[in-house]
Amino acid sequence: MKLKDIGEFGFIDRIEPLCKIHNPDVLRGIGDDCAVIGISPELNLLVTTDLLVERVHFLLDWQSAQALGAKALAVNLSDIAACGGTPKDVFVSLAVPDHVEINWLENFYKGMSDLSDRFKVSILGGDTTRSLTDLIINITVTGVSKNGETLLRSGAQSGDIIVVSGYLGDSSAGLELLLNSRDVPESIASSLINAQLSPTPHLRQGRSLAQSNACNAAIDISDGLSSDLGHVCKQSRLGATIFEARLPVSEPLKWLAGHLAIDPLEWVLNGGEDYILLAAIKPDKFGEIRLRAAAEGWDLIEIGVFDSTPGIKFVKASGETLPIIPCGWDHFKSEMPFGQI
Ligand SMILES: [Mg+2]
Repeated sequence: MKLKDIGEFGFIDRIEPLCKIHNPDVLRGIGDDCAVIGISPELNLLVTTDLLVERVHFLLDWQSAQALGAKALAVNLSDIAACGGTPKDVFVSLAVPDHVEINWLENFYKGMSDLSDRFKVSILGGDTTRSLTDLIINITVTGVSKNGETLLRSGAQSGDIIVVSGYLGDSSAGLELLLNSRDVPESIASSLINAQLSPTPHLRQGRSLAQSNACNAAIDISDGLSSDLGHVCKQSRLGATIFEARLPVSEPLKWLAGHLAIDPLEWVLNGGEDYILLAAIKPDKFGEIRLRAAAEGWDLIEIGVFDSTPGIKFVKASGETLPIIPCGWDHFKSEMPFGQI
């Protein structure tokens, strides 16, 4: 059996029993956006790590070294955002092949450095070694959150309102444009490609949700809406219903889907790397938190509701209800075709 037969999440299920927890201060190990470790009665330490591999996650000629450095850090900061935390420190490890020049690496660090200034995080170290084939980037970020304000995937309750903090699918549409050059206007292409290459971690949104006392669970959408909502459902032992008519679809995405004569739903439901947040909001607090988000200048979009019926139900604009099988990005199953509906 190969990893591609069981996928990343099947692999995690298999190794989780072997990742024994001997530290009594650990509040959450494998299975959430960050590991959560109690470091005082008031404060939790958050730790997250991500691996980016040339030809699996990116091609060097897709973007500048600076943009890739910023993205590599941004995707880790997004996991801190998903837990409602404040990021603190960064560790960067690289396996560098002969085709990557020193100048490129300096620019990669420039990209990380600029983003670290923006979010006030410190790059503290890491490791560098040689790679015989591709560039491999591993970033680890630590952060903190107040005990009682740490958002996990496992806290959603039946009846909670499902919200997202931005547009869905733009990043995967941008990837489509990078992989297959299309004849599209510059404004459309730049908007979608920018979503793919330069995601902004929703740290402010995560902090606001964490402080609101209105949010029971959160996750960042890195694998795709269907997969990541599926993770919250699994961890919270719930089902969910989402409504096609409420899913936020950007004008550039609508335009591109129309231009290519395809259904944008494939990108919206299963596309990955949006790096927006999905959260479970207590229904009696929804009005309050919607006003709070508006006052703070960020989008909080209601897309559905958690319920106790297993599975994800998708209510089409026509009123028809279909089950959704989570089929977002899985590195080991990437030949899986989009669209299970
Ligand atoms: Mg995540």
